[in-house]
Amino acid sequence: MDSYDIGLGNNDSTIRALANQDNVKFWESQAENLFWSERWHRALEWNPPFARWFVGGKTNASYNALDVAVKKNPHKKAILWEGEDGSNRTLTYQDLLFKVAKLANALKKLGVKKGDRVTIYLPMVPELIISLLACARIGAIHTVIFSGFSAQSIRDRVIDSKSSVIITADGGRRRGTIIQLKNVVDDAIEGLDFIQSVIVLEHTGNQITYNAKDKKWNEFVDSMEPLCNAEMLDSSHPLYILYTSGTTGKPKGVLHGTGGYLTHVFATFKWIFDIRDSDVYFCTADIGWVTGHSYVVYGPLMHGATQVMYEGALDYDTPARIWEIISRYRVTILYTTPTALRMFMKSGDKFPNSNNLTSLRLLGTVGEPINPQVWKWYFKTIGKEKCPIVDTWWQTETGAAMISPLPGIETIRLKPGSAARPVPGICISVVDDDGKQVPKDSKGYLVVENPWPGMLLTLWGNDEKYKTVYWSKYKHMYYAGDYAMQDKDGYVWMLGRADDVLKVAGHRLGTAEIESGFVSHKTVAEAAVCGVPHEVKGESIIAFVVLKDGITPTQQLKKDLVTHIRKTIGPIASPDQLFFVKKLPKTRSGKIMRRLLKAITQDEKINDVSTLEDEASVDEIKSALADLQHTLGRS
Ligand code: ATP
Ligand code: MG
Repeated sequence: MDSYDIGLGNNDSTIRALANQDNVKFWESQAENLFWSERWHRALEWNPPFARWFVGGKTNASYNALDVAVKKNPHKKAILWEGEDGSNRTLTYQDLLFKVAKLANALKKLGVKKGDRVTIYLPMVPELIISLLACARIGAIHTVIFSGFSAQSIRDRVIDSKSSVIITADGGRRRGTIIQLKNVVDDAIEGLDFIQSVIVLEHTGNQITYNAKDKKWNEFVDSMEPLCNAEMLDSSHPLYILYTSGTTGKPKGVLHGTGGYLTHVFATFKWIFDIRDSDVYFCTADIGWVTGHSYVVYGPLMHGATQVMYEGALDYDTPARIWEIISRYRVTILYTTPTALRMFMKSGDKFPNSNNLTSLRLLGTVGEPINPQVWKWYFKTIGKEKCPIVDTWWQTETGAAMISPLPGIETIRLKPGSAARPVPGICISVVDDDGKQVPKDSKGYLVVENPWPGMLLTLWGNDEKYKTVYWSKYKHMYYAGDYAMQDKDGYVWMLGRADDVLKVAGHRLGTAEIESGFVSHKTVAEAAVCGVPHEVKGESIIAFVVLKDGITPTQQLKKDLVTHIRKTIGPIASPDQLFFVKKLPKTRSGKIMRRLLKAITQDEKINDVSTLEDEASVDEIKSALADLQHTLGRS
């Protein structure tokens, strides 16, 4: 198997040693790196399944993200923002702090108090970061909704969180058009009396109508005092509610606290990204997802880092856009997703190759298992075999990374397709249905054995669901819902969602194994597989394959791909049916939604598609299946 030893000159073995000795003491030592106005008296209160970290301690997320950096160097650049239309802005830590204080004062003026919820529905502009931090400054709970969501999705979430204020903009930019955010909000909140005010940022100059509840950011917020003390809050004071991506079903309202969450984010940001004063960090995630919360907002800012923030599509108006951004700002650290990488790969090497990527020193990925072939492309074509790749496994619920290579503290052996080992202080296991640890190199369910600082507090307003979803399959272990394997070196291989596991002739197969088999063929850009009931085998495999640009779909290629799977994975993984499609159904966060494929292939009702990105992909698959049924004479 391929592996690559690569280091960045860091070697601190004391971190793992301390974590192995005493997990809780270890996290206490990490919490010391934050600012606390009062020290905690108890590191962990664990009333399973509810954990409270650093009890009695008082702190504030916005103070840690801004005031700390401003005290060190107010002129340090915090955000290098670029819009899709080419416009740009630079904000220093001091600029951010003033703007956050103004908005915090505005929220107070609107009657927002500690513990109240504020919904944020903004494009990727600096004001989005400012909004989160303004809420945090006064102890309001922010709840960000990705700016691609529809009115109904916003309405459901706003009703669930009972937000009193919404922050939005006159529009956002994507693929050359303006997204009508304000109109969507108007529709979403019609008749909802508990919403008192809507703050509207003028960003695109798009014509909109202002209603009685509306306040213009540029007038109302900008007229406020630029000073506002950060309110020191209990360590477990809720910082935010964030709804999960909805890959497996209806999104869940994950509630995170303050001190534990920040400790986990702070430590992992350093260990994973090896952040240095001179770095220019670029995370392509939207703040509408947890990656944006932890590793665009809180992680980088708590470390006083400089980062690029981009509003728009990464391949607009040229497939080279992302590489141009990296070259323009001399980006040193890039953190993106397998789905984005597959898209870049699909359009060909000439785009990265014609840009100067020499500033890059570290690459990262998150969100889905990364296919080994895609990993290698990232390593060679983008990183020129010099940059470690951090494949970070974590979830909205875990708050911060749980499994990842850590070039910030150790020299590492990277294995393409593995997220490497659990981070210090995190106890991961792979178990069978009875909760028994499976032998090395065997497949099973990923669990977390001990509470960890970034762990969710609960699901908003629904402790029972929290218990059922995460703590009912196993009594004292957190059930992550992912299928995995740990090898002899302790490296974890994520094999796909537990719900999507295929059982063919008594063998369990993770979707990621088979899909990566397809992606390792030179003609394939991406693939999704799902199982359908089969009389003899239990389940048979249906594959949906997207080809790289310029490749013609032929019957011969279908045969070649099946042969390729039989050779690389084994006859057991051979699909009974294979379809070429142009697109796969994905969530708005870019993840393949296999539950939809399964529902379509089994002719089931498709439940909750609110998080689906593009309905056309579903129609395409439906029509491919209809064609097949027609050919088989079944319709
Ligand atoms: P929902 O819980 O609503 O179905 P979701 O699980 O997609 O949505 P997120 O919390 O955004 O919502 O995603 C976490 C999931 O993403 C993980 O459980 C895992 O399946 C997948 N994932 C994230 N990072 C990785 C990674 N590095 N390797 C493999 N899978 C990953
Ligand atoms: Mg999930």
